Amino acid sequence: MKKAQAFTMTAPCGIYCGACEAHMAKDNTALMERMKSIKTLKTEMLPCPGCRTVRGKCLAVDGTCETYTCVTEHAVDFCFECPEFPCVKLNPAADLAERLPHNIKAFNLCCIQHQGLAKFAEKAPEIKQRYFRGKMAIGRGPQL
Ligand code: SF4
Ligand code: SF4
Repeated sequence: MKKAQAFTMTAPCGIYCGACEAHMAKDNTALMERMKSIKTLKTEMLPCPGCRTVRGKCLAVDGTCETYTCVTEHAVDFCFECPEFPCVKLNPAADLAERLPHNIKAFNLCCIQHQGLAKFAEKAPEIKQRYFRGKMAIGRGPQL
């Protein structure tokens, strides 16, 4: 994937929108029907083109995402470029951790910073899969 495309599909907080079901529903009718049935999503905006394109109006957020607004105010592209990084908005949380990918933001940001956007975009779907589907092996990380 080209760097520009990877940038468009990667939110400033590190979430990879390219692997978000609300985005992937554009090519998957069954997934689209499933997403449309989720009451907490702004379903009228499906399929979502990604955080940067909707300027932080993530389908899972009321109004504009506070992290997106904060990144804009700090005039950075990614949170790791901010002097306050890592702040409480990126704090891992057990709440909703089995359904939402908030706990992989900091890991994703590390990958982007150290390996580059293009490489990150290639491995982002697997990172998410390891998080939600991997079997944890202490010392080896989540195994697929
Ligand atoms: S902005 Fe939100 S809903 Fe849209 S693709 Fe990104 S994570 Fe998914
Ligand atoms: S304060 Fe936190 S959320 Fe805001 S740009 Fe900095 S690291 Fe990101």
